[in-house]
Amino acid sequence: MLTCEPQLSDYMTRPKVEYVQSKRGGRQLVRDGYRYHMKRRNKYGYVTWRCIHRGVCNAYCVVDSDSRLMKDIFLHTCPAKEDS
Ligand SMILES: [Zn+2]
Repeated sequence: MLTCEPQLSDYMTRPKVEYVQSKRGGRQLVRDGYRYHMKRRNKYGYVTWRCIHRGVCNAYCVVDSDSRLMKDIFLHTCPAKEDS
């Protein structure tokens, strides 16, 4: 079982996340106007995304293989809404 994995809430209530194409052609996750880049993917297919403002912002989230939000550490200390 996945008891060691982060659990935000019941599966069906987890919000789906959205992705956008970055200028360089990679994929970024978008949450309320903040952009995240992929940090790592674990063996269950869960992906950790970090705010693109590395070094000044510690916000991150974890998304499962079905693009549902599992963990949301929404602690942005960066300037909001980066223009792409
Ligand atoms: Zn941030």
